[in-house]
Amino acid sequence: MADEAHPRTLLSPHGEPPAYFTFPSLTALRLPHATTTRHCPGVASFAEPISPAHPRAPFREDAVATLAAAGLDLSRVAYARQVHGAEAARAPAGGGFAGLVDVITTVERAVPLAVFTADCLAILLYDPGVPALAAAHVGWRGTARGAAQTAVRAVESLGGRASRVHAAISPSIGPCCYEVDEPVMLQFAKAYPGRWEAWATPARPNHIMLDLWGANAALLEEAGMDPARIENPRLCTACHPDLFFSYRKGHRGRLVTLAALP
Ligand SMILES: [Zn+2]
Repeated sequence: MADEAHPRTLLSPHGEPPAYFTFPSLTALRLPHATTTRHCPGVASFAEPISPAHPRAPFREDAVATLAAAGLDLSRVAYARQVHGAEAARAPAGGGFAGLVDVITTVERAVPLAVFTADCLAILLYDPGVPALAAAHVGWRGTARGAAQTAVRAVESLGGRASRVHAAISPSIGPCCYEVDEPVMLQFAKAYPGRWEAWATPARPNHIMLDLWGANAALLEEAGMDPARIENPRLCTACHPDLFFSYRKGHRGRLVTLAALP
């Protein structure tokens, strides 16, 4: 059984690296979900971006088979062309392309919502009371633009209540490895005056280490969520190149975080 601090791994008995992790809090709620590692086959890389004109789900057959084991039917997956913004869209009925957005929502059963990352945060939000689901792609731009708060509001617009929402934060770049420079600092100072300093640690001159985990947990709480319902395994993509893709480390592969209403 996994401890509180780490997602339950799906290491095979032969000791092969896991293709994906799951979050204990979401597993306890019987929500089908997964966040892949670099060992999940068949996920298209960032070298194959999603074309809005001719969108195709960025998965091949081996990913379909691997993620079926997590209870996810990729023939019904909903996905977006992520643009580092804070706009939300409903998944099309039965899945498919949701547009140029960074937050996808659904109230439809068995439609997996997919968010692609390689250092950015994927945040899953689940209100079992509706039930309603949201998946958000949140990097520094998304954090400054309020993508996490947008995701909470989107669940509320589907009949959800922020205090009832459960959230999970995918493996992503941690404050240990995320050095940013002045343009990023300026955007945060503008978006969150007097507050963003709590998410910054001094680094080299004119740089800070930015804590996107702390920032987004704080912003979710401000949006009305119970902090006890925010799961963050604190797995840094840059610290674990054996397990994850990290854009900062020069990787171009994509991790995908998915969930579907049961
Ligand atoms: Zn790190």
